[in-house]
Amino acid sequence: MNPSATATAPTAVDAASLRAALDGDLHLPGEAGWDEARAAWNLAVDQHPAAVVFPEHAADVAAALHAATIAGLRVGVQGTGHNASAFGDLGGALLIKTERMREISIDPRTRTARVGAGVLWGELVEAAAAHGLAALAGTSHDVGVVGYTLGGGASWLARKHGLASERVSAVELVTAGGRERRVTAESDPDMFWALRGGGGNFGVVTAMEFGLLPVTEVYAGALFFPLERAGEVLEVWRRWTLDLPDEVTSLGRLVRIPPLPDIPEPLRGESFAMVEAACLLGAERAEELLAPLRGLGPVMDTFAAQPPAGLLALHMDPPGPAPGVGDHQMLADLDPGSLAALVAAIGPGTDSPVVSYEIRHLGGALGRREEGSGALGALDGRYMTFGVGMPASPEDAAAIVASLADARAALDVVDTGGNYANFAERPVEAESIHRTRSLARMRAIREAVDPAGLLRANHSID
Ligand SMILES: Cc1cc2nc3c(=O)[nH]c(=O)nc-3n(C[C@H](O)[C@H](O)[C@H](O)COP(=O)(O)OP(=O)(O)OC[C@H]3O[C@@H](n4cnc5c(N)ncnc54)[C@H](O)[C@@H]3O)c2cc1C
Repeated sequence: MNPSATATAPTAVDAASLRAALDGDLHLPGEAGWDEARAAWNLAVDQHPAAVVFPEHAADVAAALHAATIAGLRVGVQGTGHNASAFGDLGGALLIKTERMREISIDPRTRTARVGAGVLWGELVEAAAAHGLAALAGTSHDVGVVGYTLGGGASWLARKHGLASERVSAVELVTAGGRERRVTAESDPDMFWALRGGGGNFGVVTAMEFGLLPVTEVYAGALFFPLERAGEVLEVWRRWTLDLPDEVTSLGRLVRIPPLPDIPEPLRGESFAMVEAACLLGAERAEELLAPLRGLGPVMDTFAAQPPAGLLALHMDPPGPAPGVGDHQMLADLDPGSLAALVAAIGPGTDSPVVSYEIRHLGGALGRREEGSGALGALDGRYMTFGVGMPASPEDAAAIVASLADARAALDVVDTGGNYANFAERPVEAESIHRTRSLARMRAIREAVDPAGLLRANHSID
């Protein structure tokens, strides 16, 4: 953190002046609706900011930044709070929640989307589909487009089309000093580079533009096997990934589906080893490629040709806000011994409270930094993991943390020590997310646009 950010003790925000300046709303502790205002999508996170502002537009953002500067408060930004656990309790910070900034426009001629900072992936995917276009959405319908893309963005089409941040063409933001800017490759090459994968360290993004793809069909789905077959299934999937075209993006997964009433009958309360994949090569070629996995005899097979919008249902992410305690590792490789150790640590025969543990296959375009790529550019690893449990109590949370630590230990020998910001659910060293030279360049850019260290990103580079 920049030392000057803590030089003066924070005072309460001047509520009357700020409310007079806002078209949006200001919420303060103790007022009606405060608990709802401060809540994050991740219900396991109990965040206590000094104030929450819901801006309607960029001028509101500038007013909030001004009020925070006067009060000596730092500023955090959230679209949804999916990654709120990395933020900490936000004490002493003014939190800007962008959820009212929901405008979407699609230009089918240039295949470009412009989204407000609060737009969710489900909304954009639907709007793009109306024009026969697809976006590089993640697995979940209610993750924020802007937060996801600032961190990189690993989609179901990622091995073919790379990180979502690489398709960004313009970013509109308000910098710490209250200046509204539209950043493109031409207007400001340094900021444009930093905003593509460098996270929320450079300003409050109010809108983003990026390219869409003329994709109208994918062959995608999941194979479900009894959890007892996890070792065999994940090993066949691991070998399968060694020789796959970039058009296939897949993951291997262990799931223990909670017995919740809104989960359909064949899945409710059941445990599975799974393979999920999306293929861009057409049904015939996809079926050829899938043959070795289908040959294992899944108990359920949902693969089918479908519009890209169907991908948002593939991973069975929670339908709305949920409590989550997660962990993640970047893997240099995956060998049979490490995979077997992982299955022994959290698979069948263990009482692991981890609800979902996935290993995503990286590589392809996701692993290639192209000329002119952004601050992140690519993910340095051949696989990455994300495991999560849904705690109902502090005791549950402790058991999930312990089980995820067992999984971490099992994969220790293949762990690169790196992190992917979007999957890192606790504070991690900036050096583990970004390459040394990129980090130095990002820090210089941040020093120029936010010398007092006003903005506080979930994954700070300070
Ligand atoms: C169920 C689930 C599924 C997921 N699936 C995927 C996936 O498939 N691929 C993938 O890559 N990731 C995935 N993620 C991770 C997700 O991309 C990150 O949690 C991401 O940070 C979420 O962005 P958000 O805006 O929704 O969350 P938030 O927690 O609101 O934002 C995350 C951070 O982004 C920054 N930020 C957000 N908005 C702004 C803004 N307007 N201006 C400046 N900074 C801003 C802030 O620093 C903030 O702390 C998933 C997460 C969950 C919980």
